[in-house]
Amino acid sequence: MAKPKVAVYWSAACGGCDVKVLDTNEKILDIAAAVDLLFWPIALDFKYKDVEEMADREIDLCIINGGIRNSEQEHIVKLLRRKSKVVAALGACAISGGIPALANLYDAQSILDYVYHKTTSIDNFQGPLPQPEYDAPEGRLTIPKFYDSVFALDQMIDVQYYIPGCPPPPSLIVKALTAFLQGTLPPPPATVAGEGSVCDECPRERNREAKVKKWKRIAQFTPPADTKKCLLDEGFFCLGPATQAGCEALCIKANIPCEGCMGKPQGVTDRGSKMLSYIASLTDASTEEEAKKILNDVVDQAGLLYRFDLPKSLIGGRRKE
Ligand code: SF4
Ligand code: SF4
Repeated sequence: MAKPKVAVYWSAACGGCDVKVLDTNEKILDIAAAVDLLFWPIALDFKYKDVEEMADREIDLCIINGGIRNSEQEHIVKLLRRKSKVVAALGACAISGGIPALANLYDAQSILDYVYHKTTSIDNFQGPLPQPEYDAPEGRLTIPKFYDSVFALDQMIDVQYYIPGCPPPPSLIVKALTAFLQGTLPPPPATVAGEGSVCDECPRERNREAKVKKWKRIAQFTPPADTKKCLLDEGFFCLGPATQAGCEALCIKANIPCEGCMGKPQGVTDRGSKMLSYIASLTDASTEEEAKKILNDVVDQAGLLYRFDLPKSLIGGRRKE
């Protein structure tokens, strides 16, 4: 019997999601033996031309990690969409923009200006910026166009399955691939994750009476040594209540607050707003002025609340002045 044909692609990604596919350890050998890998730029020497020459819908499953930041990535994901029966978004960047999409707080021009003119490590006296097209004596040279925003994959193409995390836990990757091979994936669209929120998987207990006078950053304060104490109750920004289960609370078991990489739980429209309401209800202030003072001490609020999903959030395309 013919093996299912699988492709893997990375776009605006760090490579961590690809590495997690390999972190499935010996299971990767079973998976590799069970499928026919047609395209995987980080691991195998296929060319875009190979994809262009495929018949439409020839790929049974295409797994894409990373968001869309430039014209090359848009072109390739649209090409892969046409060549694939099923597309799965792997990781926070593909699902909701991820950390690179925090750049959406700025436009392309100010990012290029900063990177090429203002960083201390750059020596660019003439001040040129990369141009998408350049007429050299040898002919026209082109590079991909850098877009104003990072887009989530399903803001560009139809996506049937989502495997969350930054990077996704290997157990979820194995679960999704096993279900694909066995033909037991749920009807799309569907997310391969756990039930409920990270708090449901966390061994710590929330104290419903807790109040917080000062919100703390893990870079400045050490979380409590007592691993039964809820980090949120102790004043650390733990996004567990507003984050989808499926990671088995790995970070919290290492005494690190949840940063929310698994995305929002089912039924939540905007994860940042949901978390903000938790924070507001826990903040111990008797006047509006006092509440403002406590919350103004929280640095990088957009980065804390929308670290992985700015393009899919309610504040979406707002730019910083
Ligand atoms: S989701 Fe995380 S690990 Fe995956 S590409 Fe994005 S930043 Fe890297
Ligand atoms: S808020 Fe964080 S530490 Fe507290 S129970 Fe939820 S996941 Fe665990």
